[in-house]
Amino acid sequence: MQSETARWASLAVIVLFVLSAALSLRGDQPPASVGIDAPATVFSASRAATVLARVLGDEQPHPTGSAANARVRDRIVAELARIGVQAQVQRRFACGASTCATVENIVARIPGTNADQAVLLAAHYDSVGAGPGASDDGAGVATLIESARALLAGPPLARDVWLLASDGEELGLIGAEAFVREPEFTRIATVINLEARGTRGASLLIETQPGNAQIIAALRRALPRASGSSLDYEIYRSLPNDTDFTVFSREGREGLNFAWAKGAARYHTPLDNLAHLDRGSLQHHGDNALAMTRELAGRAPSATADSAGGVAQDAVFFNLFGATVAAWPVMLNPFLLALGLALWLALGVRLVRRGSRTATLAFASIAVLALLAVLAGLGWGVHVLLQALGAMAAMWTAQSALLVATFVALALPPMLLGGYAVQRWCGLPALALATLLPFAIVAAAAVAAMPGASYLGLLPLLAAGICAHLVLGRPVLWSAVAAVVAAGLWFPYAVDSYPAIGHPGLPATTLLSGVIVLPLLPALLSLRRAVWALALAGVAVTFACALLALARPAFDADVPRPANLLYAGDSDAARLYLKPLATMPVGFMRQAGFADVSRPVTAWLGWGYPSANGPTLPAPSLQVESDGIRDGRRHIAIRVTSTRNAKEGGLVLPGDIDVASIRVQGQALAPSRWHAEPTRWRRIALVGLPLEGAVFEFETAPGRNLEVYGYDRSAGLPPVMEPAARARDAVAMPIHGGDSTIAWQRIEVAATPQSQK
Ligand SMILES: [Zn+2]
Repeated sequence: MQSETARWASLAVIVLFVLSAALSLRGDQPPASVGIDAPATVFSASRAATVLARVLGDEQPHPTGSAANARVRDRIVAELARIGVQAQVQRRFACGASTCATVENIVARIPGTNADQAVLLAAHYDSVGAGPGASDDGAGVATLIESARALLAGPPLARDVWLLASDGEELGLIGAEAFVREPEFTRIATVINLEARGTRGASLLIETQPGNAQIIAALRRALPRASGSSLDYEIYRSLPNDTDFTVFSREGREGLNFAWAKGAARYHTPLDNLAHLDRGSLQHHGDNALAMTRELAGRAPSATADSAGGVAQDAVFFNLFGATVAAWPVMLNPFLLALGLALWLALGVRLVRRGSRTATLAFASIAVLALLAVLAGLGWGVHVLLQALGAMAAMWTAQSALLVATFVALALPPMLLGGYAVQRWCGLPALALATLLPFAIVAAAAVAAMPGASYLGLLPLLAAGICAHLVLGRPVLWSAVAAVVAAGLWFPYAVDSYPAIGHPGLPATTLLSGVIVLPLLPALLSLRRAVWALALAGVAVTFACALLALARPAFDADVPRPANLLYAGDSDAARLYLKPLATMPVGFMRQAGFADVSRPVTAWLGWGYPSANGPTLPAPSLQVESDGIRDGRRHIAIRVTSTRNAKEGGLVLPGDIDVASIRVQGQALAPSRWHAEPTRWRRIALVGLPLEGAVFEFETAPGRNLEVYGYDRSAGLPPVMEPAARARDAVAMPIHGGDSTIAWQRIEVAATPQSQK
């Protein structure tokens, strides 16, 4: 009878575990789209999509400086006028971290009762060269317009709301750099930025800024079910991504950066179009932007200024089952950790008093860590194997769901087998105690080094620790509590590591799945024979999903194979290069006339698969305008002129040139964290190169020989190369900047100045 009850209890916690894992994914779901007939004060994705369709028109790529971008600019101004908002176009020359351009920011104000500490709603309207940018960031701009309409339909707010549709983001945050120098920016206290790195998914809070406890408190008031977490923020910070928010944050503004990140295979490709834009994601952007604007701009400025006193705190926060956002101040972390570790150690002491041997408990803990290490190795090995078999043809492929299922299921059999062995050798209490160790380690490491991730370790540890001291004699139950909590917090990250970082994230899927299922092992093993059926099912699902993934085409109408064409050379020789970001179909290279091996295009242009020589390119002209010693430093000014009227031109300098000394048409580059990264070459660009060329200046130590390249770049390929582009289009799509033609000229700057300025 007793064992029958225990069996039912095991089944119950297993059901709870599955439920927790399933519900955890709700925090990652965008809401349903709201229809066109919704009340005027409500954000409607249907209305926003209609606006976006008009703004994008024929859905041409519209990078900064293009005629298509000027048309998009005019349509945005017209859409704002349609809702009664008078927008201003600020045409400015500005520089990002490496590229300068003349940008045209669209700026408008919705007056509140007070002009101070205004809220800025920001999104960029320029696209990359390869695609129309319906999600990135047309959706953000449409959200701005529909939010403004909804705000104007309601009562006036306490503070001004500024709208910024920025230009030049894709070239390197240039519009944002221009805007932070405008007098309007001094009025801005808080920024809500809208972005996308994909075509669907929840509009996640991916970024705030240090000292975010206050704004997270505001978030919880206005958006009780907001998606995103302090872990997302930690992950985002560790990735080499920047948005306009980077600039606003650098300038000391607090705020929230919302972005969706699923459907990343279509990011910066022709398929980032209206057809692939998820209306639910758009609705989520709007719900976030409108609610946060009303919350932040709805409060009188003085009230916030008062409460902002004292030391700014960071918050740990996360979405729980799509139902609520939980949060606590980071300063609580050490206390929570101490409590969790004390509970865990006391648990060990009590188990020893009950007859467990200390050595056995220690051995079980080491065995569990070894098991996770084996699992990590297995995940890595299967990834290598599937890659060798051709299943990872690009960062993201159409096999994504099958691959994620493969790597989740892969965790189950070894965990069951390993758990069985540990339980046989060490006994149930030792296994149960050991399954909490990874959470203790994660909690301690995160509290020390990555506070935003601390909840992943702290909560399972605390929940199981408290429960264990209440029902010490039921290890199956108290360890399962950790599993149920962990499933609710960890599972979204287990299944989303592939959508987030591509196929290299798949081994993490297996490891995270293993950590989640670990504390459930005592319950699973209590199922006796059924557990082996479960292990076999795990093996079967792993193989079935892997085989189906291998059988399925990697690319289809919704998941493009990314590959750019580059026509590059100088006045001596030029040729076409294929620069694929995916494996190409068998036979394509030879049929399309590309070599089988890639080689460097030139010293600073990366690698590509060359074809036969084509017509030479007229090289840009480089003219040393001045070269002299100034304050012990050698100052060189070079004029770069495109002899073929290319829209972009610049210099490629040795990587150790002092970035702070660089000037483009007299303008310094914007400060950036990337300037500290070592690089062999530093490419400085001007988009919108004048016919008479542009002057690039830099300083170097006297007495040094310099190798410098001048280059120009135009979008697209020479007409004679169009057959190759058509051949590529049959199997692949351009990505990011798209196809381009680059010509260069190399010059040696002699060790001694040729002239004195
Ligand atoms: Zn963007």
